[in-house]
Amino acid sequence: MKRARTCLLLTSLALAPAAFADDGASREQLVIAHRGASGYLPEHSLEAKVMAYMMGADYIEQDVVLTRDDVAVVLHDTYLDAVTDVASRFPGRAREDGRHYAVDFTLDELRTLSMHERVNPRNGTARYRGRFPAEHAMFRIHTLDEELALLRALDGAFGRETGIYVELKDPAWHRLADKDIAAVVLDVLARHGYRDGGDRVFLQSFDDTVLRRLGGDGGTGIALVQLVGDDRWWPNSTVDYARMRTAAGLSDIAGYADAVGLWLGHLLADSAGNAPTGAPRLIRDARAAGLAVHVYTLRRDALPEGFASFDELLEWVYDELAVDGAFTDFPDLARQYLDTR
Ligand code: CA
Repeated sequence: MKRARTCLLLTSLALAPAAFADDGASREQLVIAHRGASGYLPEHSLEAKVMAYMMGADYIEQDVVLTRDDVAVVLHDTYLDAVTDVASRFPGRAREDGRHYAVDFTLDELRTLSMHERVNPRNGTARYRGRFPAEHAMFRIHTLDEELALLRALDGAFGRETGIYVELKDPAWHRLADKDIAAVVLDVLARHGYRDGGDRVFLQSFDDTVLRRLGGDGGTGIALVQLVGDDRWWPNSTVDYARMRTAAGLSDIAGYADAVGLWLGHLLADSAGNAPTGAPRLIRDARAAGLAVHVYTLRRDALPEGFASFDELLEWVYDELAVDGAFTDFPDLARQYLDTR
């Protein structure tokens, strides 16, 4: 059963694929800036968000974790080691696994850190070769509140309405620390005017427990996105991603969420296996369930096998799969592709 109070915007997005199956160009397909323009500047820096904004992204992504003093900050990992100098600045504050977790630090402490391009914390080598030099660590951690204030101010200056795409990172892990990340984030969103399905906001998570709660009675009217992962990524997780990718699983998701975020790797495997042309089964099943389809993550510098160029990948995702939106580290290239095709 589909959520009863799905918003107008999402209703049109969800129904469009079925209504215009042979005419993908007749509806808006979204460019979602993954962690900002993270192909060019360190992920989740305000600089990367401004760049994504100026590149014309439709939505800009915020991954959110909580600090020790319950402030929502914009960071991809629950730990700080891959993007900051926390290890040298706060010796002795690591947990047993050697990592420093945001939830163990106050906002004031996090503000003293320098942020840089993503590296492997064990050896300091860049996650993506050729991106912004990691030794230029002149960036700073900021709060969700600050980022939303920035984007709304830019919208005011440019007369736009840029969407936000907020991810609740590991709600179960936060709960172990006695924190309700969903409650904190919803409060920040409400203060900036994001309250229901008519607002240009998506709330995403890999955790179906929190989404079922938010999509149920007494939850939120904000559009919800179930991110669909792979059971191999988190062997200790109790979430059953294999089931989520079945027709029955997708139909179940449609009972509490408005869209699914599908992994590019699953679509590639699905496509190679049984549907060389047209939409893979996963997308057909999601659409049949009434879900909008978003796909993650398109990277110019990490092309999947079989694609000779980024434009070829964009063409496959936006034109052949005809997705409703795609996450990309290179929002300028996706914007350019959609505007000139
Ligand atoms: Ca994310």
